[in-house]
Amino acid sequence: MSQVETQQSIAPVERRVDAMEAALHERGMEPRAFIEEFEHLAEEEWVPRNGARVVAKAWSDPAYRQRLLDNGREAVGELGIAMPRHHRHLVVLENTATIHNVICCTLCSCTAFSLIGLPPGWYKDLEYRARVVRQSRTVLKELGLDLSADVGIRVWDTTADTRYIVLPMQPPATVGWAVEELVALVTKDSMIGAARLAGT
Ligand code: FE
Repeated sequence: MSQVETQQSIAPVERRVDAMEAALHERGMEPRAFIEEFEHLAEEEWVPRNGARVVAKAWSDPAYRQRLLDNGREAVGELGIAMPRHHRHLVVLENTATIHNVICCTLCSCTAFSLIGLPPGWYKDLEYRARVVRQSRTVLKELGLDLSADVGIRVWDTTADTRYIVLPMQPPATVGWAVEELVALVTKDSMIGAARLAGT
């Protein structure tokens, strides 16, 4: 079946959500409280600012950076950032002048969401998931990141229990800035590896 035919045979998301809610109601289950809790977490708790705090701390504190690279899950816990129990491993991928890391989930849409927030729409697209693995340089260019030929690209495929975050390079002009100022520089896309920060 072609992708177009598959899409045409699937009802719009609103109708699918309504159908699931109706099915739960029929069985005496009340999803509203769960949905409200999830919305609170997604909008208030799982925000890219968490990951940005980790990145800024790593830039500012070499000992913390090493702990982060050694055991990501423990190191983000030092900053009070929780990861779900099933995110058993957090692997921190350090970008350098010659290595650029990018993450994906070829199966679905997994991210370290308590650090970088829920994935952008394009991250969930079948096209990104399929092509970033085989045509990473081209896909990154289409996303606006045109890497020079001497930069190697490493693509990391997320699994249920192993999550990734990219540690972007620090813009040299910001060395010595206060951590709070650095936090404001770090974007969600830079922690996925779909962008580099200005000045790097
Ligand atoms: Fe996934």
